[in-house]
Amino acid sequence: MSYDTVRDVDPAVADALTAERERQEDTLAMIASENHVSEAVMEAQSSELTNKYAEGYPGERYYAGCEHADTVEELAIERAKELWGADHVNVQPHSGTQANMGVYLAVLEPGDKILSMELEHGGHLSHGHPANFTGQTYEVEQYQVDAETGYIDYEGLEETAEEFDPDIIVSGYSAYPRDIEFEEIQRVADSVDAYHLADIAHTTGLVAAGVHSSPVGVADFVTGSTHKTIRAGRGGIIMTTEEHAEDIDPAVFPGGQGGPLMHNIAGKAVGFKEALEPEFQEYAEQTVANAKALGDRLQEHGFSLVSGGTDNHLVLVDLRESHPDTTGKDAEEALEEVGIVLNANTVPGETRSAFNPSGIRVGTPALTTRGFDEDACREVADLIYRVVDNYDDEAVKSEVSERVDELTDEFTLYD
Ligand SMILES: *Cc1c(COP(=O)(O)O)cnc(C)c1O
Repeated sequence: MSYDTVRDVDPAVADALTAERERQEDTLAMIASENHVSEAVMEAQSSELTNKYAEGYPGERYYAGCEHADTVEELAIERAKELWGADHVNVQPHSGTQANMGVYLAVLEPGDKILSMELEHGGHLSHGHPANFTGQTYEVEQYQVDAETGYIDYEGLEETAEEFDPDIIVSGYSAYPRDIEFEEIQRVADSVDAYHLADIAHTTGLVAAGVHSSPVGVADFVTGSTHKTIRAGRGGIIMTTEEHAEDIDPAVFPGGQGGPLMHNIAGKAVGFKEALEPEFQEYAEQTVANAKALGDRLQEHGFSLVSGGTDNHLVLVDLRESHPDTTGKDAEEALEEVGIVLNANTVPGETRSAFNPSGIRVGTPALTTRGFDEDACREVADLIYRVVDNYDDEAVKSEVSERVDELTDEFTLYD
């Protein structure tokens, strides 16, 4: 996209859009929740559907003129059903948080109880953080990962569930590098007569491709994002059984949202079609292989990884052992200077703060989209090591920066 039409109207925004495009092309996006959609998805997202009001659902809208909106939404729903094997799908949530809101509104009353993972251990704001509506509306108790192993403490979860007697248990996390035993969490939910919401925002694409355990058909509700490990543009999705279909749809609209963002739903439909192609399977496998290669090499350099490795698309590095005087923010800032963009992250047993935590989260979905293989990811691990180990050495940073430029030139993004 040239943004010439935007430029005619608004040069300031056109400049920012062009600069952002160049930023994405010239840097390595290693924020684990980010990816790059295809030009086809972007074109669908910028379609005339942005003009259309389509409150309601296909075939039962509150407005006239919805036949093409219906076609697009039905295609998105059918493809999602095929991708995840779900009975019922709602593609209208504007984001992952809105998808979670839809589930809470469907089955909880204000004051009901949510049991979820602690934010510091990989939970999400929308699982009950005090700064989020969930923390303000519901009573929240949290479970943890085992401090020693970094894996979910399933026994602790069960004990807390027995004591707290939650109405819903939330699984699925933002910074958890391991596979999740959804059946085990479902068993605990059943034993205390709670619903189970599996929020697979980070792993939506990995689950679709079968390279991560699936909670579909196990948990009562599954929510996901459409922009992290699947490249269908920004948004959310809810999957559930026929039994809960009648609760979910009215909770999304009119419960928590107005008109659906039909242009984004068009992006979802196109991105889901791409994900049904065999290449997507290869992409998901490569994403996981890349994270393993990256993690292994980081460990060879002496970095300590939470849980000792990864089963998915991300690794969580705890800097305290290898670099006790370097914070996650120090690392994030030095790496951004050389064009490696990732985020500082809290680690289990955090001894600093959420603003300046002790870890970095490193993801491979976006690099894999631009063609990185294991060798290239091992080299990126070498570059990360050099920068973190010498984060105030300008000469090292300028050398690494030059190498990042070569890599981004070799693995191009949008031609
Ligand atoms: C990313 C994420 C979400 C979705 O976030 P939005 O920014 O609202 O789309 C939800 N849950 C978890 C666990 C996440 O990591």
